[in-house]
Amino acid sequence: MHPITTHCLGFPRIGADRELKKALEAYWQGDIDEIALQNTGRELRHRHWRLQKQAGLDWVATGDFAWYDQVLTLSATLGNVPLRHRREEEQATAQEPYTDVDLDTLFRMARGRAPTGNATSASEMTKWFDTNYHYLVPEFHPDQNFTLSYQQIIEETREAVALGYAAKPVILGPLSYLWLGKETGAEFDRLTLLDNLLPAYQELLQSLADAGASWVQIDEPILVLDLPVQWQQAFEGAYHRLQNRQLNLLLATYFDGLEDNLSTALTLPVAGIHIDLVRAPEQLAPVLDRLPAHKVLSLGVVDGRNIWRHDLRRSLTQLAEARERLGNRLWLAPSCSLLHVPVDLAREETLNPELKSLLAFATQKLTEVFSLARLLEGRAGAGAKTALARSDQALKTRRQSARIHKPEVQARLAAVTPADAQRHSPFEARIEQQQTALNLPLFPTTTIGSFPQTADIRRVRRDYKAGQCTLEEYQQRMRAEIAHAIAQQEALGLDVLVHGEPERNDMVEYFGEQLDGYAFTRFGWVQSYGSRCVKPPIIYGDVTRPAAMTLDWWRYAQSLTQLPVKGMLTGPITMLCWSFVRDDQPREITARQLALALREEVVDLERAGARVIQIDEPALREGLPLRRRARSHYLNWAVEAFRLCASGVRDDTQIHTHMCYSEFNDIIEAIAALDADVITIETSRSHGELLRAFEDFHYPNDIGPGVYDIHSPNIPEITAMVEVLSRAARDLPVERLWVNPDCGLKTRNWPETEAALSRMVAAARKMRRLYETRDGARALGGDELLARQPASLPRVGA
Ligand code: GLN
Ligand code: ZN
Repeated sequence: MHPITTHCLGFPRIGADRELKKALEAYWQGDIDEIALQNTGRELRHRHWRLQKQAGLDWVATGDFAWYDQVLTLSATLGNVPLRHRREEEQATAQEPYTDVDLDTLFRMARGRAPTGNATSASEMTKWFDTNYHYLVPEFHPDQNFTLSYQQIIEETREAVALGYAAKPVILGPLSYLWLGKETGAEFDRLTLLDNLLPAYQELLQSLADAGASWVQIDEPILVLDLPVQWQQAFEGAYHRLQNRQLNLLLATYFDGLEDNLSTALTLPVAGIHIDLVRAPEQLAPVLDRLPAHKVLSLGVVDGRNIWRHDLRRSLTQLAEARERLGNRLWLAPSCSLLHVPVDLAREETLNPELKSLLAFATQKLTEVFSLARLLEGRAGAGAKTALARSDQALKTRRQSARIHKPEVQARLAAVTPADAQRHSPFEARIEQQQTALNLPLFPTTTIGSFPQTADIRRVRRDYKAGQCTLEEYQQRMRAEIAHAIAQQEALGLDVLVHGEPERNDMVEYFGEQLDGYAFTRFGWVQSYGSRCVKPPIIYGDVTRPAAMTLDWWRYAQSLTQLPVKGMLTGPITMLCWSFVRDDQPREITARQLALALREEVVDLERAGARVIQIDEPALREGLPLRRRARSHYLNWAVEAFRLCASGVRDDTQIHTHMCYSEFNDIIEAIAALDADVITIETSRSHGELLRAFEDFHYPNDIGPGVYDIHSPNIPEITAMVEVLSRAARDLPVERLWVNPDCGLKTRNWPETEAALSRMVAAARKMRRLYETRDGARALGGDELLARQPASLPRVGA
């Protein structure tokens, strides 16, 4: 039978040593010139193409390289460059589309500044579907025009072809491109731009054909979303117009199943389609049944979102029928671009060998695809046969290893009852007891947890890790930091203090390192945005807490002050979402294990005397499934995990949580169901818009709307903060309100922090004064406010 074609949907661009990151940052600093930067980029591309070829893949991907982000590259390619990001002399003409794009144009769009051109506000950045990768949001205005304006994707394809590779360019399709953007100025229907957009895509496709491509992968990941019917219907006409006699289009979908978009996808006039069988294996049967004859079907079988070695044996069974029915129309690939996994496992020399034998990073995944193809064809060489044996062995290890499976964890999980996820009394009763215990003023002030992480702190932590300073020296330095933070907070007049988190390099890593079941890589970097990378830990086994993780630091901090110091933990869902998670059990089971381990810490903190404990869940929302129908299931188990973690305490212990993103509307009920006594949220960047969700919902518990943006070095104005609070006080009872920044302060320096917090405390005091008098209340909200809250004044303390 004919051979199976193998390919990948995209390879990580950042480099095994983060070469791209380093070169980009050097270029932005002015330490290297554009030629040096270009050289690094070229070397990386060549290396990555070579890896794909050496692995035996039939195609190498082009167009997956980007100087900052692939969506940004596409915007430049289409001439979609906001006026403010153009060179100054060209802003006046407002020429459109803008064809004079260079590298610095990209960087002005991405970062608001570049070595050349004026500083301005950057484009907005947002998460790429349910990943931790951030793309730059395209900006659209009515009647916008597009034309081929930037040649990078075409040049790089030509480059690969010249080197003798079979190049398959990868671009984002027009519908997904429009969907992922936003309108600037007036709101309008972005779909109306499709007509203007398609000619630019036609030009791009023709240029790619001229550069030597015979196939182009055109990604339409929005086909796995619940699409409005107009968007669904727009596909057919659009793809009719994109037909090109010289080119075959492979329409790629990933991150979930096609479901109600299946017919749309299968009937488009394209040569092939790629589907994700990792996230949605059940779609194979219907796709096989309905795939038009002659169309190629590319199956995404190797997980592009996780780091586990592929189970080749299972795929052989799963794909036997597809091979039979499709012959050489079957292609194999990872499920999605490998952008979301680290580059090369071979570099992890210090990783436990057993664990290492269970893993595969991007480079290894290429080989897995190749091996699977040869095995399926029944013409496996020695390499593929060894791969199968290793895969079988890994599976066995994962089933049996005592490092992974711990009977005591299973037993504890089985013993969990609904009562364990329930505080003793309802919020109204709890808050009264907490108020008696804490005796806080109206508008109590607090911060989110971290204080400035100075270069000094980071150096001490590094030295300690590297064995270059003793535990005693390390502890002494951290204690000095904590003492400083406590003294500052007392001097500033804050009401509920924090220890400042100097010992934490990262809010997930810090806890993961102390929990069993977690492993850490040395080079497992994954691009988060631009030059920024994260190194997600790996949850490989049942999770336990061998010893207390935060207790000593907290105890020391509390010993320095009479005011309450918050215990500070990262919640189970954030631990889950920011790690690579095991795939041999449902995520919800892992979440529950994490919750039980963290619950022990919560209980220990209470026992040690903590009156307030904060459990951060900044990642709750990003775990949300892409499809609406799957959301309530996720929210149910996520909420349950949080409550399991938080509910082991007495009524008079106050549980806080913190989240910092701006879309709450669709999950507000789940947030209320967390039943945290206090939630602190981001509201400053969205100018209080976000509060509306809480107001409309009549959020029942205490809430601290972030009154200023910690991402900016600007010192906030008292009046601006009073305004945020007054707005909140209009719809929420004043006795429910807290005053705090919108996130942790670790990226700021001390002078900024002191100045900002002193004004924040002043704003809180102003609110207290205003609410002590009828006049004050009237000045804020008018008579209706007084009428609504006649009894909300007596709690004024400080
Ligand atoms: N407690 C953490 C801090 O203050 C919270 C960080 C976050 O929300 N991402 O840094
Ligand atoms: Zn935050």
